[in-house]
Parts: sequence; C-alpha cells; structure tokens
Amino acid sequence: MDAKEVLWNKCLETIEIQILPENFATWFSPTYLKSMNETSATLAVPNHFYRRCLSENYRDLIASALEKVSGKKLGIKFFIESEFIEENKTPAEAIADNLVPNRKAGSTEEHPHAVNPRYTFSNFVVGTSNQFAHAAAQVVANHPAQKYNPLFIYGGVGLGKTHLLHAIGNTILQEKQDTRVHYLTAERFTVDLIESLRKDRMPAFRSRYRPLDVLLVDDIQFIAGKERTQEEFFYTFNSLYDSHKQVVLSSDKYPKDIHDFEERLRSRLESGLIADIKLPDLETKVAILYKKAEFHQKPIPRDVALFIADNIKTNIRELEGLLLRIIAYASFTHCQITLELARDVLKDFTYDKNKNFNIPKILKTVASHFNIKVADLKSKKRSRDISIPRQVAMYLSREYTKASLPDIGRQFGGKDHTTVIFSYKKISGLVSKDNELARSIEQIVKKIERG
Ligand code: ADP
Ligand code: MG
Repeated sequence: MDAKEVLWNKCLETIEIQILPENFATWFSPTYLKSMNETSATLAVPNHFYRRCLSENYRDLIASALEKVSGKKLGIKFFIESEFIEENKTPAEAIADNLVPNRKAGSTEEHPHAVNPRYTFSNFVVGTSNQFAHAAAQVVANHPAQKYNPLFIYGGVGLGKTHLLHAIGNTILQEKQDTRVHYLTAERFTVDLIESLRKDRMPAFRSRYRPLDVLLVDDIQFIAGKERTQEEFFYTFNSLYDSHKQVVLSSDKYPKDIHDFEERLRSRLESGLIADIKLPDLETKVAILYKKAEFHQKPIPRDVALFIADNIKTNIRELEGLLLRIIAYASFTHCQITLELARDVLKDFTYDKNKNFNIPKILKTVASHFNIKVADLKSKKRSRDISIPRQVAMYLSREYTKASLPDIGRQFGGKDHTTVIFSYKKISGLVSKDNELARSIEQIVKKIERG
C-alpha cells in the first residue's frame, strides 16, 4: 500500500462508522485517492453520477475525514474515470470496464473488483454467533461454485455480513488474480439497472454482468418490492448459476421473511446454503475489540473492553465506533485508556446518539415504519396493527427522551401514564424474544439517529 492508499483507508474508516453500511458500500467502495497536495485532494470516482452524489451528499463528511486524518483542511476535487474511457458510461459499464484485468494503464492503486481489501478472513473474529457463516464462507472462498451455491448469509445490522462477502472475494482473488469477481450492493445493482433502462442499454447491462465468475451481492433485501429489479436479478442469477458460477448474497432477513419478494426468486435464493449470523456473545465482542485495538496499535485493558462490550449490545460497527472514539479521545488528551475515560466518552457517545430524539419525531418515524398515520398512534384504536406500533413509540419515548411519563401520555393523545408504563414494560419484554420486533426497533432508532 502506498501512502495515499493508507491515508484514504483511514478516511474510509472514519466515514464508514458515520453512514449506513449500504450507502458506504455503494458510494465509497469504488473510490480511491488519486492525488493530493497542500491544498486539495482529488478523489477518483467511476463516473459523473458518483461525483454528483458524493459531492451533494457527502462532501462535508469527506472533508472532515480528510482533515482528521491528514491534519489539513483540503478542498475536494473529483477525477472521473469514465471520462478517460468514454463519456456517459452507466455504472454497469464502469463495472464492465473493470472486468478486464489491468485494462487501465497504471491501475495498481485501485480495486477493480470493488472488493475491499480491508475485510479479510484473517481480521474476522470467529465466535459461536458467526462460526457457521464464517465456515460456509471459507468453503465457498476455497471452492467457488463447487459446494454451496448460492450461499445466503443473513443477520442483523453490523454483524459482519459485508465483511464476510469481501473476505470471500479477497480470498478468491488471492488464489487466482484474474478471476472475475464482483462485489456490489443490491442498491447499486438497482441503480445500474435504472440507468441502463433509461439509456436503453439493457443488452449491454446483461452482457456485462453475465461473464462474471463470482458475484457477491450485499443487502439483497433492498430489492424487495421492486419488481423490475427482481426480474432482472432473477435472470442474472440464473445465467450465472446455470453456467456454474458462484453467487453469494447477504440479507438482513431470512429469505422467507423478506416481504414482497417474488416466489421464484426466493426459492432460487433458498436453494443453496443459508447461514445466519447471530448476536455476538460477550467474549466474542471482547475478542473483536482486542483485535481492532491491536490493529490501531492501541492495546486496551480488559475492564475497558468489557465495559464497551457490555454497553453496546447488538452492533459490531457501533462497538468499533465507540472503541475508536475512546482511542481518539485518549490520544487528543494524552491520557491512558482507562475505565474512567471510557465512561466519559460513552456519555458523549450516547448524548450524540440521542440528540435527535423527540416525541414528534418518534411518532412520525414509527408511523412511517409501520405504514400507519401519526393520528392512529394518538388514537384510541386497539387493533394489533396499531397498538403494537403505539407501544413501540411509547417505549422509544421513554427510552430515548427525557420526557416524563405523564408528558409522554399527553403527547399520545392524552393517555394515562400507567398506559405508558404498561407499554414500556411490554415492549422491553418482547424485544429479547421477538427478533422481528427487535429489528424493527433497531431500524427506527437508526433512522432517527441519522436525523
Ligand atoms: P453488516 O454487513 O452485517 O451490517 P459489517 O460486515 O459491515 O456488518 O460489519 C460491521 C463492522 O464490524 C465492520 O467494520 C466489520 O469489520 C466489523 N465486524 C463484524 N463482525 C466482525 C468480526 N467477527 N470480526 C471482526 N470484525 C467484525
Ligand atoms: Mg452490510
């Protein structure tokens, strides 16, 4: 790795913990740092579409990551790769260009397969929660298209699905450099499709996905409810599968639990091996923390690791996020990493996460998540499809805001505070048993946290 690559990787680490994983994978995985001087950094992106999205949505984020890592305030410029090939390429075509190994002159710095070299099997910590998925992924990586095809990995947010997909890609590429591997998110597949349809370039789209040897598709649940994308994905899948090419998919749900999914596609996805990743236990979380701390060359004491692991229940990305904050804080203040310092940082961390929560926002987000109206949440309706969301909203109001019980009751159309307590207890009890509900709550919380 050259210095630019190291620097950009560090920036990516900072960015990754601040945005949704699917967005990170879609928009940042094909980028690299083209050049840098005292005043500006030039980011290489596949095409205009990327430049627009990154510049409109992520410019500040990129600038602050660069500043943090390089210590300089830099302007951001974009280098559009497709301009150097042919104007107006769709993302699918950009992928196709990348399929031909070493096509572009001096392309050693980039990652033409969109496989991220940072995620490998060697930095993946195995515990009881993920050992099955890990083992299956290793078999696929070592025997692509021979054993489990497709491999379908599912599990909650931030539990290592994307990491395993990239690890498979990296292993295969290491073994045989010219294997045509491609990693992409289902969101990106959708974007490609829309663009190709719009530009009337479907034959090109098809002929470009189909010569792959290994296709890694992340977050396939994204195409639920999108008929046209499902149809096209079905054909892509079949064509690869029929010619004995490996397909690996990830999803936040078991195939049967993805709603609005075409039956024929679902049964295809279920036809290989399905492996789940569960919530990590305490020891696995501690082992992951040690590994990450070691990577950053900042060993942490066991009481700190236990403290972080105990406070972050469900998401390894957050585990890492808190660890990185603690490390950063210790280095800014030139302090040792101690339990006391960790407690201080956690306070900030929780405050940051909670600052977006207020009852109107909770009502709005819960209503939209469950496809009902805010007025329903405030109403007296008692049907299950309304009472459960209402209880969830009350639970979140109690858990994430400072509002008193009577105040919460009032903002729910004048309910008694005992109703609020009842709801809170009911949902607290349910989340540990009902995975579907726990996941809904997690998604709602994420949505509110991100403003
Ligand atoms: P998902 O795709 O399931 O939402 P990711 O694969 O993006 O989750 O994982 C989130 C973060 O946690 C990544 O930085 C990843 O490297 C890290 N991570 C997850 N599981 C492990 C593990 N078992 N060992 C090491 N790091 C892990
Ligand atoms: Mg992911």
